[in-house]
Amino acid sequence: MSEQFNIETKCIQSGWKPKKGEPRILPIYQSTTFKYDTSEQMGRLFDLEDSGYFYTRLQNPTNDAVAEKICELEGGYAAMLTSSGQAANFYAVMNIAEEGDHIVCSSALYGGTYNLYAHTIRKMGVEATFVDPDCSEEELNAAFRENTKAVVGETIANPALTVLDIEKFAKAAHAHGVPLIVDNTFATPINCRPFEWGADIVTHSTTKYMDGHAMTVGGAIVDSGNFDWSAHADKFPGLTQPDETYHGIVYTEKFGKGAYITKATAQLMRDLGSIQSPQNAFLLNIGLETLHLRMPRHCENAKKVASYLKGHDKVAWVNCAMLEGDKYHDLAAKYMPNGTCGVITFGLKGGRDASVKMMDNLKLAAIVTHVADARTCVLHPASHTHRQMNDQELLEAGVQPDLIRFSVGIENADDIIADLEQALALV
Ligand SMILES: *Cc1c(COP(=O)(O)O)cnc(C)c1O
Repeated sequence: MSEQFNIETKCIQSGWKPKKGEPRILPIYQSTTFKYDTSEQMGRLFDLEDSGYFYTRLQNPTNDAVAEKICELEGGYAAMLTSSGQAANFYAVMNIAEEGDHIVCSSALYGGTYNLYAHTIRKMGVEATFVDPDCSEEELNAAFRENTKAVVGETIANPALTVLDIEKFAKAAHAHGVPLIVDNTFATPINCRPFEWGADIVTHSTTKYMDGHAMTVGGAIVDSGNFDWSAHADKFPGLTQPDETYHGIVYTEKFGKGAYITKATAQLMRDLGSIQSPQNAFLLNIGLETLHLRMPRHCENAKKVASYLKGHDKVAWVNCAMLEGDKYHDLAAKYMPNGTCGVITFGLKGGRDASVKMMDNLKLAAIVTHVADARTCVLHPASHTHRQMNDQELLEAGVQPDLIRFSVGIENADDIIADLEQALALV
């Protein structure tokens, strides 16, 4: 029903739909388990013959209501919450890739996600090839192998702020019979809905704008339901062949468009257990209720701050795709006509040392390992989130050594600019 609503209404109304006499506000189902009347009823749940709750590691009503809201915001078919964005990106790939498989990734990724795909899943036998997000179609197509199972990128990369040409990546993925997975954390569905451009699966670190208040670490995976796993059955045996751990169920046959999320829940969540706590899902839901109000303000403030920095004589460069002349302005105008996000990056003419010194002088903007929430915050990726990378890896990830990541909050933009003004005066 709510699919017909505008996105602002979905932020408020989607997800929890109380019936007669039930709480108006989403309850926190603070229960590990759920009661049944007969052993037979419980048995059918374990066989995936009935749907219902039995253990919170697999599913919980609070989490499901919030996942449904995120699903509707993205225009997807099914969704699940995870304990973190990292867990979402891990599950999204490992749900369809196994030992001996390969994925193609944009090289402009969040530092943690880069480590996950470059190193950690490599130890599990899944290899990644990284491509420049701005590469030609030929270069992109050349990265695929016989055993490639997915293509991965970020709508707006953290912290490189490259804008993914979603249509280009979707076209290449589909030409090779694999889905495109897009991490839509920075844009949020308020500013971009990757499914409308051909992406098949969307992931989120809900820790960022969705929560919006730096309260809870969380993640989400949304499936569009559009990718036809059966048409490429040989590539995706986990979805198209019997699962012996569920008495031979074939996910695509039994769950159709719900196959991918059902498998991720029934296998990965069952075995790896990276659930979001219902308490955190409740808080995330409160954040989602104002996402449509906060995102435009983040963008408006970011544009003002970026314009100010651009005109400052101590500033060497500024990245903000909402500014005319930015390398990604045209792609941003296509995929995110209402604005990108509140995160901007810049470097100082004094180089790395000056950048770090300026940060230490800030009073309103706090130095925190966080980004994309209501409070303005700042970070130096080369010293912090991307510390494990060597210079070559840093440059490939689009992170210059002097890059300051500045996450513009929803305070009054004049106060944020005044803080920068006094900090810059001291370097
Ligand atoms: C923060 C972030 C992640 C990781 O999310 P966590 O919730 O911190 O695990 C993944 N992708 C992007 C784009 C991020 O910004």
